[in-house]
Amino acid sequence: MDSQTLMMLSEKYVAHTYARYPIVLVRGKGTRVWDSDGREYLDFVAGLAVCNLGHCHPKVVKAIQDQAEKLIHVSNFYYIEPQIELASLLCQRSFADKAFFCNSGAEANEGAMKLARKYAKEKMEGDRYEIITMEHSFHGRTLATLTATAQKKFHKGYAPLMPGFKYVAFNDPEAVRKAIDSKTCAVMLEPIQGEGGVNCPSEGYLRALREVCDEKGVLLIFDEVQVGMGRTGRLFAYEHEGVEPDMMTLAKSLAGGVPIGALLIRKGIAESFEPGDHASTFGGNPLATAAGVAALNAILEEGMLENCQRVGDYFLGRLRELKKKFTFVQDVRGKGLILGMELKMDGGPIVKEMIKRGFLINCTMGNVLRFLPPLIVTKEEVDQVVEALEEVFKTRCA
Ligand SMILES: *Cc1c(COP(=O)(O)O)cnc(C)c1O
Repeated sequence: MDSQTLMMLSEKYVAHTYARYPIVLVRGKGTRVWDSDGREYLDFVAGLAVCNLGHCHPKVVKAIQDQAEKLIHVSNFYYIEPQIELASLLCQRSFADKAFFCNSGAEANEGAMKLARKYAKEKMEGDRYEIITMEHSFHGRTLATLTATAQKKFHKGYAPLMPGFKYVAFNDPEAVRKAIDSKTCAVMLEPIQGEGGVNCPSEGYLRALREVCDEKGVLLIFDEVQVGMGRTGRLFAYEHEGVEPDMMTLAKSLAGGVPIGALLIRKGIAESFEPGDHASTFGGNPLATAAGVAALNAILEEGMLENCQRVGDYFLGRLRELKKKFTFVQDVRGKGLILGMELKMDGGPIVKEMIKRGFLINCTMGNVLRFLPPLIVTKEEVDQVVEALEEVFKTRCA
């Protein structure tokens, strides 16, 4: 079917929850994707930080093929081989002692919030259930996670929201200290805010939060759905400051493109989940976790973290050069290969111009260009994107 027909059918039959760009992507390899007309694009969106290993990484493809022939799904009533392997790997590589598997970032965050409440009922004094989250956060689209998401635009039309949430400014540990009261059970945040505009923690912020949480006896939850799995140049973003949470959520890139979510939990808290307390039919199923094992091993074995640091630093430097040349660039920020360029104008038209030139980039918050290339991206590919961006910027000045 030709692309015009496909897009027409999509408009007719697929719910309009996305304003889509007019291309149909049908194939991907590494940092590149192709549309149904055979046009090639350099992909600096990577499925929104899902394809950290690049598209169709051979080891992930092989793992999916092998597992699909063996066993695609069985119930969690039984032990599942690749699930056990992925849980072991994640616990060995992180602060965590146990993993709960589900299918998405929102579901992982739901699990974290449920466990925080349950733990509080069992282990904390009084009636504590409230969770403090940060302005400009993003935690998902279910009723609870969208309530945790402290951005009004996501709430519109869905009242009444879930009770039990309180919002404070990001990067302000004193605001968190003041907000914690006799109802608080947890503080939840992204170590780097992705959707909210690539906002980085200032030096010492995460450590200060850890101290406040310890002092007040409340849990600290990191949402690493977007920044985990190597995106910042470390396997997990919390490693940069060496500040460990009590729980952490993962999803997006965890299985190299196959839907998955995980909640990683510290000992002493994990025990508050007992058989029957929480569940997910597909959670940790053989296919998804086999892909997860292959993806995690590939990130670690193929030097992707080092490449992410090296090329990420280079990319950040090149974006800073652009900032010097164009006064409408307000700020450039990020870590590893989650980089943002804040403009003093709408970024939407820039994204469209880039697509015409064969480059996929993202814009969030209306005016922050967000770059999330696969971790295997090269300096040459970064140069191509930066040069195209400069060309597009020049047409804006004329
Ligand atoms: C994408 C994202 C989510 C939601 O993940 P879904 O898989 O879309 O439910 C949650 N938190 C963060 C930080 C995200 O970037």
